[in-house]
Amino acid sequence: MAYSREQLSQIVEDYWSVGSVRCPEDDSIINIKRSPHAQGYNLIGRCLRCGQAVKATNHDDPIKAEFRRWTAEELTEMAEDFYESRSALCPVCEVDLEVKPLATHMKPPRLMFHCKRCLHHATYSPGPVGQSEAAQNT
Ligand SMILES: [Zn+2]
Ligand SMILES: [Zn+2]
Repeated sequence: MAYSREQLSQIVEDYWSVGSVRCPEDDSIINIKRSPHAQGYNLIGRCLRCGQAVKATNHDDPIKAEFRRWTAEELTEMAEDFYESRSALCPVCEVDLEVKPLATHMKPPRLMFHCKRCLHHATYSPGPVGQSEAAQNT
């Protein structure tokens, strides 16, 4: 029997919040491979006890109804966290964000945030010290 929608949703939740996934039928650890693509991602794996294959996608995420854009305040906080600790969490799904500095020749460089779970991304443009307006031109 294939896993139900509810079981796949639980698998997606555990993948992101627990960091490991167990077979809902027999509680065995399943190694999950995440493959991102242009519209989202797939979670692929197979239970080595019962042999059932996992094929879940971002559409099975139980919190996807809560996904939304980050506010400007959240983006500023994410940047502060990144500057201070070199890591930042998505304020919506609490997953570690990918942070890429852009245009590092600029002073200050911009930061590109990307969340692997809710798939949002945004660019943070810090204003030069003493100016409130963020520089938008390349
Ligand atoms: Zn199993
Ligand atoms: Zn997120």
